[in-house]
Amino acid sequence: MSDLLWFDPSLCLIGGQWRPACEGRTLPLINPSDGSTICRIAGGTDADIDSAVQAAQGAREGDWGRMSATERGRILTRIGQLVLDRVDALARIEATDVGKPLTQARADAVALARYMEFYGGAADKVMGETIPYLPGYTVYTLREPHGVTGHIVPWNYPMQIIGRSVGAALAMGNAAVLKPAEEACLTALGFADIAREAGLPAGALNVVPGLGAEAGAALAGHAAVQHVSFTGSVGTGAKVQMAAARNVVPVTLELGGKSPQLVFDDADIDAALPFLVNAGIQNAGQTCSASSRILVQRGVYDAVREHMAAAYDELTVGPALQDLRLGPLISDRQKDIVTGYLDIGGGLAVAGRGRIVGDAPSRGAYVAPTLFADVPPDHMLARDEIFGPVQVLIPFDTEETALRIANSTDYGLVAGVWTSDGARQMRLARGLRSGQVFINNYGAGGGVELPFGGVGKSGHGREKGFEALYGFSQLKTVAALHG
Ligand code: NAD
Repeated sequence: MSDLLWFDPSLCLIGGQWRPACEGRTLPLINPSDGSTICRIAGGTDADIDSAVQAAQGAREGDWGRMSATERGRILTRIGQLVLDRVDALARIEATDVGKPLTQARADAVALARYMEFYGGAADKVMGETIPYLPGYTVYTLREPHGVTGHIVPWNYPMQIIGRSVGAALAMGNAAVLKPAEEACLTALGFADIAREAGLPAGALNVVPGLGAEAGAALAGHAAVQHVSFTGSVGTGAKVQMAAARNVVPVTLELGGKSPQLVFDDADIDAALPFLVNAGIQNAGQTCSASSRILVQRGVYDAVREHMAAAYDELTVGPALQDLRLGPLISDRQKDIVTGYLDIGGGLAVAGRGRIVGDAPSRGAYVAPTLFADVPPDHMLARDEIFGPVQVLIPFDTEETALRIANSTDYGLVAGVWTSDGARQMRLARGLRSGQVFINNYGAGGGVELPFGGVGKSGHGREKGFEALYGFSQLKTVAALHG
């Protein structure tokens, strides 16, 4: 691994300088494929966060703050190109750090580049409007950056989440402080170094690894941070929102879900099947927009169950660099959580089950993907976000029942509808309580262009697409009376 790292992973990047955490503290970074220690990372605390925020303020007041939107866009586009140049290294680093199969890690690195390309192109295309008002007035709006933005990122898709959140914030001219997850932070550091190389001024992006309760809490509650973007668990999201509330700053929360796919009797089952399974087991189910509930109309229920069980039979799990369908979970802690749910589900498990390969190291956090059938909609398996390779099949009779079950969890992030009935497609697109609805397809969050975010306990605010640029800016209204 050390041969792949072109930066020192034990440091923070603050104000364009690599430096150790203030107290010199470091934390071990574990490889979930075999339980070994990859390296030590900085254990940043409030003092480091404070330095990073000051550096970001300096960047806002300096070159970065004065830069034209066009030039900001050029730098982001350049970052995207340099990310593409290093796709292989980034993919191997991410696969080792997160435990995700190499193909998925590579897709994440390409997506990171695409975010930079998208937001690079969009940077100088965010416009205000002129508003008809009283005679003698000219009224217009300006979109301005918040200032310093805080970004608290989880371990499941570091590159994609950094791309969508930091990319949009920088495009609008904010200066960012990024706190990656203590379980997986290497590509955050690599990305920041690439951004520096691409010409991003010092202080425009600062990275402070550290524990959530220390560096994360310090960032969420820092008085000079003017916007906080958080992706992770509901409990931590609520803490972040409370910390930000004390400073009366806006937050974007993306907190996961229990996303359903609804399969009707008239659906093209062959087309649906790969989506049904993949949306549940991608990244070993550790995906906020994973489709962990499959609701199937009675007429095709047995067929879907049989086909999905057969697909599960084919799934293999092993070390990330073997590039099988699934890697390990992020940690033993996550494995314990998921295994607990497998025990609860017990007798509802369908025979077909993924297989952990024989040479998977015993200290890796491996869990065999498991499909449960005939799960009552109010069962824990059907309501809780398990965040592992676990899907439940729930039968239904009518469209009305399907909609009621689909909308019955606390979450509302993504939903999929499989039906050839156009009117039903439209009814459900409106009726589903969800931030995104996919019709006859399912994208775990979709492409970079598609606004993404949840309702209910899935969070609030939107990232991705153009919508993120509105979230990472504030609107100023100018009313000029000139007679
Ligand atoms: P978490 O929400 O605690 O951690 C996410 C990020 O928040 C990390 O960077 C962490 O360091 C930081 N953090 C932790 N405590 C903080 C605090 N008090 N203030 C500010 N930042 C803080 O998630 P986790 O413990 O890694 O995982 C637990 C569960 O969360 C998972 O089982 C899963 O259900 C869910 N999860 C969801 C997502 C998602 O994409 N929505 C991602 C990761 C985990």
